Amino acid sequence: MSLLRSAVGPIISVIMPGQCRVCLARECDLAGGVVCEHCWQDVQVFTSETPLCEKCGIPLGAPSRTAKPVCGQCDKWSFDRAFACGVYHGALASTIIALKERPLVSARMVQLIQSTLEREHDRTFDIVIPVPLSKRRELERGFNQAEMIAGVVSRYLKIPLLDSALHRTVHTPVHRAGMDDRARELTVEKAFSVSNADSIRGKNILLVDDVLTSGATADACAAVLKKNGASSVIVFTVARAVYRH
Ligand SMILES: [Zn+2]
Ligand SMILES: [Zn+2]
Repeated sequence: MSLLRSAVGPIISVIMPGQCRVCLARECDLAGGVVCEHCWQDVQVFTSETPLCEKCGIPLGAPSRTAKPVCGQCDKWSFDRAFACGVYHGALASTIIALKERPLVSARMVQLIQSTLEREHDRTFDIVIPVPLSKRRELERGFNQAEMIAGVVSRYLKIPLLDSALHRTVHTPVHRAGMDDRARELTVEKAFSVSNADSIRGKNILLVDDVLTSGATADACAAVLKKNGASSVIVFTVARAVYRH
């Protein structure tokens, strides 16, 4: 019996086609994605009513009527502002993880990206730039998931996608165990470079990634883009991790 159980164990933990990756319900209508509609309903999507830090876009507690709505921890970031569709959890997290396995942005995610961009009043961007992977990581994966998202953004806003200017020069594990905040920042600080400064000089850039976690990656990209003449850098990510390191 124990032998049978150990043989069956790993098999039943595999997600079956038509099975929701969050609630594990089977034979769901996943609409071409990996999560059922019920689980999508549980996603904490940001709206114009959500109290967010006006710089980094992290959800704040109760809205303050007097003070400026800022989290107080993002002053040093080089980007001008960041915004996201919603909180990195449940359906949104599973869909982002799935996007690293297969280069397909599900219809549900496209819809969410479009409605988030619609809610943005300031949409005067000149170019969309995806956060790059290192050459090695992109070869391993076969595609860059940030570029898939940037493609959706570029088509919707009808502004060009530029993937040839910003490069990740160092292959760094993003979350190496035992690394503190500062060590993590140092590893990404020198990881990016710009190869064609003329293509970004004086431009208002929309920098796109899948998830904003510590902010260190977006900060490093924005710093190098501005150093090379970018006029402004606003960051758009599908999800925003709400914990702080
Ligand atoms: Zn579900
Ligand atoms: Zn903030």
